[in-house]
Amino acid sequence: MTTSRTDNAAAAPAAAFWTDLEQALGPNGFSRGADAIAQKYWTDWSGTPPVPPLALLRPRSTEEVSALLRICHAHRVPVVPQGGLTGLAGAAVPVAHGVAVAMDRMQQIEDVNARTGLMTVQAGVSLQTVQEAAVAAGWVFGVDLGARGSCQIGGNVSTNAGGNGVLQNGMMREQVLGLEVVLADGTVLPMLRPMLKNNTGYDLKQFFIGAEGTLGIITRVLLRLRPAPQAKATCMVALPGFDEALAVLARMQARFGNSVAAFELMWSDFVQTSMQWQKLQPAFAQQHPLQALIDVDGKDEAALRAAVEEALGEAMEAGEVVDAVIAQSGEQARSLWKLREAPAEMTAHMHPPVNFDVSLPQVDIGRFAAACRAAFDARWPGHHSLFFGHVGDGNLHVTTDSQTINGEDEALEAVLYGLVQQFQGSVSAEHGIGLHKMPYLGFSRTPQELAAMRAIKQALDPLGLMNPGKVFAAD
Ligand code: FAD
Repeated sequence: MTTSRTDNAAAAPAAAFWTDLEQALGPNGFSRGADAIAQKYWTDWSGTPPVPPLALLRPRSTEEVSALLRICHAHRVPVVPQGGLTGLAGAAVPVAHGVAVAMDRMQQIEDVNARTGLMTVQAGVSLQTVQEAAVAAGWVFGVDLGARGSCQIGGNVSTNAGGNGVLQNGMMREQVLGLEVVLADGTVLPMLRPMLKNNTGYDLKQFFIGAEGTLGIITRVLLRLRPAPQAKATCMVALPGFDEALAVLARMQARFGNSVAAFELMWSDFVQTSMQWQKLQPAFAQQHPLQALIDVDGKDEAALRAAVEEALGEAMEAGEVVDAVIAQSGEQARSLWKLREAPAEMTAHMHPPVNFDVSLPQVDIGRFAAACRAAFDARWPGHHSLFFGHVGDGNLHVTTDSQTINGEDEALEAVLYGLVQQFQGSVSAEHGIGLHKMPYLGFSRTPQELAAMRAIKQALDPLGLMNPGKVFAAD
């Protein structure tokens, strides 16, 4: 009798599974049973209900990852890779009949080449550690986001993370020169050639970037670093409306080109809430519909600040900017940026937060935000929703306190994603699909695209063991 993949996956693994694992990972390399597994491994930051896995596996090397995947493959046991568990789409939440593989014992920076600006790291290294190692070598790393202290490079690659630097450096994909990946059957796929140009057939590593652990486990990453700017100017501007925000962005880019490193837009609800949560002083005497935080890179601190001041003066004369503050020191710049760090406080203050991360044609973001707010106001008067985002690259975040919409999260999603579809946007700009956005993937992908994705999944993981039920429903 043949059993279906699901039957196989759901059956309890045979005793040999556990002895094989112990042999491969040693007695300290895995914990078995809910009582033995710390609850932090049961879910991620998304607020998805926790699920204890059958076992938590903690490999120390590529060889151990390969061995454990070979064993899981032989016993048909599903595998959920876990990085820093800061994901906001539920993609790293375990499945009850599978194992979770935590990468937190693979934290070595293997090589930093200060001359070529390349760094090779194991997948479990935190983003912040990579950033600090890049600075120590005289370079910078091109991706930054609020969860930097906890999220891991492997997780950043698997979600194709974005964050504050995308305008200048692109997403995580643009920082990855090479990967080492272990496939579901334990095959190690080394793709770590330190070359920017390599047109020799399919660029296989791209399949694993943004795959959310559904195609294999990333074990090592070859990163491209960026030249460190010699000077930086940070400013906060008060804006009368969205069109003016785009006008200021265009003005700054025309003047400073790719040196405009960040353009973060915050609607007034976000600004007020962030100040309240973090007990911050207002940058401006009055409230304004929008505030933008702008970073510009340059060579000379004083000259750069003067040039930014001049550009903002012209923007004021043109009626694009109402008020502006330019940081006079690194400390002042950090305190301006603090306002943008409210997302780290959301879990503590919202009950729970419902997060959206959408992408839209840049010109439509203002109208989209207004349409969302109007639709929310009509159905849930008194809702607490915050609008903010990396608008320089077309990315808008919306976060709503579930309690203020009577826990009607699904109805809220239907309203917002319906508008995304109407505006021809993307239901995920940077957080990924995971569990949470699966029902809406078809809003942003054609049936033909979905069929091609499934074909790739089938080719690389024919038993459907890698992170089953994430991105698209398990077969
Ligand atoms: P996890 O949450 O552990 O996992 C995410 C996915 O990657 C899962 O599918 C998991 O299976 C897979 N995975 C993890 N490691 C591996 C591996 N080695 N091999 C294969 N698959 C793996 N995201 C942004 O893009 N931009 C932001 O600005 C941003 N800001 C944030 C701010 C805060 C305060 C928080 C809490 C989150 C934020 N995020 C942001 C979301 C999150 O930090 C990113 O998605 C991050 O890239 C996830 O990394 P992680 O290591 O925590 O991965």
